[in-house]
Amino acid sequence: MRALLIEDNPGDARLIREMLRDAGGTATSIEVLVASRLSEGLDQLQRDNVDLVLLDLTLPDSSGLETFDRLYAAAPSTPVVVLSGLADETVAINAVHHGAQDYLVKGQVDGGSILRSMRYAIERQRLEAARTELEHQRDEFFSSVSHDLRTPLAAIKATIGVVLANEPANMPPGLHRLLGNIDLAADEMTQLIEDLLEVARLQSGRVELWRSHLDVREVVQRAVRAVEPLIVQRSQTLDVQVPDAAVMADVDAERLGRVLSNLLGNAQKYAPEHGHIAVRLNSGPRAVCIAVSDDGPGIPVEQQERIFERFYRGRGSAGSVVGTGLGLAIARGLVELHGGTLSVESAPGAGSTFTVHLPESA
Ligand code: ADP
Repeated sequence: MRALLIEDNPGDARLIREMLRDAGGTATSIEVLVASRLSEGLDQLQRDNVDLVLLDLTLPDSSGLETFDRLYAAAPSTPVVVLSGLADETVAINAVHHGAQDYLVKGQVDGGSILRSMRYAIERQRLEAARTELEHQRDEFFSSVSHDLRTPLAAIKATIGVVLANEPANMPPGLHRLLGNIDLAADEMTQLIEDLLEVARLQSGRVELWRSHLDVREVVQRAVRAVEPLIVQRSQTLDVQVPDAAVMADVDAERLGRVLSNLLGNAQKYAPEHGHIAVRLNSGPRAVCIAVSDDGPGIPVEQQERIFERFYRGRGSAGSVVGTGLGLAIARGLVELHGGTLSVESAPGAGSTFTVHLPESA
């Protein structure tokens, strides 16, 4: 194992090397390279292959969290164990939040614990890299399977369209309903495939926005019209409030429409029968804000960030509703591409409000 120790205090550097030598024994051969400045360490990382960096955060040419951030930016795939003093332990913990694999407090460690931490850091980094690679492969897989499914599905949809258009007048009602079901199922599957493709595109940064300068009220009204039949079907009420004056912004109308359809679709899906849904469009001096509220079951606090993850589906009362767990991940991805944010405010039993904030320039 080859480690790079970036430590400006010669006494500390010597101690750590000695401890590692003693702990390593004959079973592990550990080579320790030493740099006393961050710039020197970064040069060495470029030149030599190292398995791990032991990093003191306070160096002559950098200090605190910045030391870690600069190293991480230069070598994101090299595992880092941060060395801290008692006084800057909090900074070391922050470094772990920024991507360091572990931290050690000087004076509280011996060779055995440093070695264990180093081995663990290397292993953890390896697993993280493997997980990222697996995620990448999964996205590729979804993307190619979805493409392949599109063609036969389009054939089913076209065929059923022809059959429905040429239905004989004496077609038994039961059979007519079954044909209608096939048509609906083909639509649902098309939507699912489109979602899978969009999620894969977002994940790999392949979504390009087609922005135009338009009145956001029209995008809102279009999304509302699409969900209205479902709202009527479940005897729900819908209250839409938009400003009297045009709300102009540079947005991708189709993508923003998709975000709103998803939020409205969820509100409609998760609100009870006879429930109430509200849409508010506000335009401030610096931002456009669209809020979609419902009086559904609400979302427990611990799930409120997770619901924006791909494939995450809530448990509890909302879990009984059919879905794929892709809608909010896509919605947030599309809003963020516009430079905006999508957030939720909710409490179990008190409904949910999803809010899209688009910056002035969006
Ligand atoms: P899906 O609805 O297909 O499961 P989404 O990504 O749209 O996927 O939503 C993820 C999860 O967030 C849902 O499974 C549900 O638990 C929760 N959720 C989303 N919108 C609402 C809402 N309006 N009310 C309650 N829960 C919601």
